[in-house]
Amino acid sequence: MGALILAALLFVGGSIGMVGLLVDDVLRPGAPRWIYAAPMAMCLAASVPLAVRRRATPWKTFGLVLLGDLIYLAVALSIDDPVRYATPLMLLFPSFVAAWFLGPWELGINMAVTTAVCLLALWPSYDSAVVLGIQVGVSAGTLNGGALGVYVLRGRVQRLLVATRTQSHLDPLTGLFNRRYLVEQAPRLWRQARRDGTRVAAMMLDLDHFKNLNDAYGHAAGDAVLRAVAAALGATVRPADVLARTGGEELVMLGVVSGREEASRLAERLRTAVAGSRTAEGHTVTASIGIALTRPTDGEEPPDALWRLIDRADAAMYEAKQQGRNRVATLWGPRARATSPEQSATLPCPPASDVA
Ligand code: GH3
Ligand code: MG
Ligand code: MG
Repeated sequence: MGALILAALLFVGGSIGMVGLLVDDVLRPGAPRWIYAAPMAMCLAASVPLAVRRRATPWKTFGLVLLGDLIYLAVALSIDDPVRYATPLMLLFPSFVAAWFLGPWELGINMAVTTAVCLLALWPSYDSAVVLGIQVGVSAGTLNGGALGVYVLRGRVQRLLVATRTQSHLDPLTGLFNRRYLVEQAPRLWRQARRDGTRVAAMMLDLDHFKNLNDAYGHAAGDAVLRAVAAALGATVRPADVLARTGGEELVMLGVVSGREEASRLAERLRTAVAGSRTAEGHTVTASIGIALTRPTDGEEPPDALWRLIDRADAAMYEAKQQGRNRVATLWGPRARATSPEQSATLPCPPASDVA
C-alpha cells in the first residue's frame, strides 16, 4: 500500500513538473530545459516499477530520497525567481522519508546532501556570503533538525511496538507464553515437522489438587507455586519448544519430536521438573500430563490441527488424573495409557544437552 501511494505521488509530482515545461515564464530564460525535464522524467519512470511490484526496498527508497533532493536542485536552478517559487521546504518529504524508513547511514548521507543541495540551490540568489550562509543554515538546519526528530520518534515508536508485541505474547503471572503465541507458533512447528518428516507433540499439564493448595494456603501461595512451576519447566523445555499457560493451572508444551519415545522422555522430564519445584515457603505440587502426537498432512490448517491435537492431549491428561495423578498418559493407541511415576522413572532419560 505504501509503495502504491509513493508511486502515485511520484507520478503526480512528475506530471505537474512536466506541465511547467509547457507554461511560459516558468523556466528562466536560457536555462537548459533538459536540466528541469530530466528529474521529472525520472520521477515518472520510477513510479511505474514501484506501482507494478508494489514493493520499495531500502535501496530503492534511498534512491527516491536522493531523486527528491535532485528535483529540488533542478527546479531551483532552472525556474525563474527560485527564492519565491522553489522553497527548500520541497526537501521536507525526502528528509522525513529518509528519517522514518532508512538507516542511520542513509539518513546521515541525506542530511549532508540536503545541506549541499540547499547551498547550490540558494547560491545564485544571494550576493552576500553571510546572507547565503544564514539562509543555508536556517533551511538545512530546519530540515535536518526535523529529520533527526522524526528519527528519534521512530526509534521510540519501534521500541514501544517491540515491547507491546512481546507483552502480548506473555502470561503476566508466570512469564510463560500465552495462548495467542501458542497459536501463532503452530504454522512454524507444522512446517518444521513436515519438512523433517517428524511429528508435532502437544503435552497438556494440569496441576494436581491445586484448589486444595489455594484453599489451604491462600491464592498468593498458589500464585507462587505457579511461578515456581513455570521457572522449573522453562529450564527443562528445549529452546525451540513453546511452553504456554493456556488456563488457570493448565499449561501446554508444544514441540517437534522424532517419535513416541522422545515425547515420553520429554513429558517425564516435565513431570519430574514440576514435582521438584518448590516455592520459597516450601510449597510443592505435582502435575498430570497428557501427550498427543500428530504427523502434519498436506492441506490441514495448523491452528485447527493444533486445537485437535490439544483436545487429544487433554483427554490423555484426564486419563492420567483417573489413574492417580502425578503421571504421564499417552494417546497414541485406541485407548489412553497412563504411566505411573515409578514406571516413568525407569525410562532412560538423556542429559539436557541431548534434548536441547
Ligand atoms: P485436579 O487435580 O483434578 O486438577 O484438581 P484441581 O484442584 O487442580 O482442579 P480444579 O480445576 O478443581 O481447580 C483448579 C484451581 O486452580 C481452581 C482455581 O482456584 C485455581 N486457579 C486458577 N487460576 C489460578 C491462578 O491464577 N492463581 C491461583 N492461585 N489459583 C488459580
Ligand atoms: Mg484444570
Ligand atoms: Mg488441576
